Amino acid sequence: MTTLTLVQGDITRQSADAIVNAANSSLLGGGGVDGAIHRRGGPAILEECRALRASRYRNGLPTGRAVATTAGALDARWVIHTVGPVYSAGEDRSELLASCYRESLRVADELGARTVAFPAVSTGVYRWPMEDAARIAVETVRNTATAVEEVRFVLFDDRAYEAFARQLG
Ligand code: ADP
Repeated sequence: MTTLTLVQGDITRQSADAIVNAANSSLLGGGGVDGAIHRRGGPAILEECRALRASRYRNGLPTGRAVATTAGALDARWVIHTVGPVYSAGEDRSELLASCYRESLRVADELGARTVAFPAVSTGVYRWPMEDAARIAVETVRNTATAVEEVRFVLFDDRAYEAFARQLG
């Protein structure tokens, strides 16, 4: 049984086996939660991301996929980087957003992570409407078979927290 929990706050302050990063496909850092994770986690994370770019992901990490690195100075063992889709009003990219959660949990299982903290992937710069993103996140985690014991959604502001709370019911 996986327990879904909600916290409002900064994901870089969380203690968990794995912290998920809403990365971009370059894996070389960005704004939002990505910037915050690299700032607080320190250079070890970026170093491993660069190595991944030079080996397995020469063309970048594809949208909907996930890959783990060290968590550097964060209070976690791993950061799992996943690339959310940019929201499109004209094209349904929900399956790619669902894939971020599924793939992150698959990587977490490979690592043996028991607690995993997720931000609201794609809801910042990538503009995914919060209610819909929350629905996809919660439904996907509920429908994914995983050995992860706690999936913790860490929501930055009231609006995100309330959207996820409504989905959890
Ligand atoms: P994306 O490019 O996938 O949209 P962003 O980082 O721009 O990623 O935003 C994803 C979500 O993460 C947004 O809801 C944003 O408010 C939130 N966020 C930003 N910084 C943090 C943080 N330190 N901890 C948790 N969530 C954060």
